[in-house]
Amino acid sequence: MPSVYFQTFGCQMNSADSDTIHELLSRRGFVLTDSCGGSDLIVVNTCSVREAAEKRAKGKIAEFARGKKSRPGQKLWVVGCMAERLGDSLKEQIPGVDLVVGAKQMERIDEVIEEQFPQSQYDTGASPMIFGKTAVTDFVPVMRGCDNYCAYCVVPYVRGREQSVPYDIIESTVKEKIAAGIKEITFLGQNVNSYNHGGIDFPALLSKMSNIDGLERIRFTTSHPKDCTEKLIDVMASSKKFASHIHLPVQAGADRILSLMNRKYTSSHYRNLLDMIRTRIPHADITSDILVGFPTETDAEFRETLSLVRAARFTTAFMFAYSPREGTAAASMKEEISKEEKNARLTELIALQTEITREIYENSVGRELEVLITGRQEKRDKAWMGQDAGCKKVLISCEPAEPGMILNVKATRSSGMTLIV
Ligand code: SF4
Repeated sequence: MPSVYFQTFGCQMNSADSDTIHELLSRRGFVLTDSCGGSDLIVVNTCSVREAAEKRAKGKIAEFARGKKSRPGQKLWVVGCMAERLGDSLKEQIPGVDLVVGAKQMERIDEVIEEQFPQSQYDTGASPMIFGKTAVTDFVPVMRGCDNYCAYCVVPYVRGREQSVPYDIIESTVKEKIAAGIKEITFLGQNVNSYNHGGIDFPALLSKMSNIDGLERIRFTTSHPKDCTEKLIDVMASSKKFASHIHLPVQAGADRILSLMNRKYTSSHYRNLLDMIRTRIPHADITSDILVGFPTETDAEFRETLSLVRAARFTTAFMFAYSPREGTAAASMKEEISKEEKNARLTELIALQTEITREIYENSVGRELEVLITGRQEKRDKAWMGQDAGCKKVLISCEPAEPGMILNVKATRSSGMTLIV
């Protein structure tokens, strides 16, 4: 049987796209391998969100291209956001790349794969496999693209305009996954709160999903603070099936910077949202994305970000120093902040958030947690890994369990980023 090796960079949307590609290939008899050297096909799914992400992907692609020379017949595909941005020029930049499939072509990926591997020639009669089929958690994209044009972000250019998936497709996908043993689904969209199809908005979609038997836990990402409504928070609070976690990227704490970023909310609007979430969903985990060193950000404005982080008490956050992305509005703004200053701000922010994360984990010790067991801990085969109803990792070493079980446990200690039972 032909084999395929995946290297996926970037966000959960890319993970979901890799799953889709894998599923289409598995219908043609491809099996997944964890050895790039022994595979017939390598698929590199790329991220464009930062220059460093593109550099990492290019380095990996070049390494695979060199390896191909000693593996006659092996194919190398590059897909995703960097593939969209650079197109076929990637084949010239890195000889050895056989196919470039941009993110916008994911809409017709089944046709692209059919052109490369006609199903009639490859179908082995094997039933389609679900990517990582022993897992009990999975992703379901419900919308693609983004209309927001945040000043620093390439996503609207590489992923295109917002498009929502029809409800009946989402429902049948979810039911198929449940039948395959999936217990928890994360609904995905670049701007998931703006889902709207056939009169069904995102809160209505979530309500309908919570009525599906067998779906034990529901998550979603990513939420834009301007579209995170009271109705959505009420739906989250309405059922124990909803994880008590929301990822709500704030990006900055100063209103002038938020406006330059074209984020369309103020710092006080964001703080009010957090109050509403915490009032209705006690112990909610709120996580965020934060960008420091945006063009013209003053030290005082950076201190406003630190002040917001202190008040928000995010469980964790993705934190980055700004780097310009070609074609975005911010790329034409004059950069006045040195790399050293940006790195110093990032270091200060990370130190603050790390301390808050440590405190939040420690405060969860002794509290009753509902943990979904997701699998064995690789290095300690008597221990189980899981996730609580929020977003905290839990390591359970004493209970007999199996993936998919939900256990009520109390953590006895915290290692800083993991709760231990
Ligand atoms: S909301 Fe802003 S940051 Fe998020 S994908 Fe859209 S443009 Fe990018």
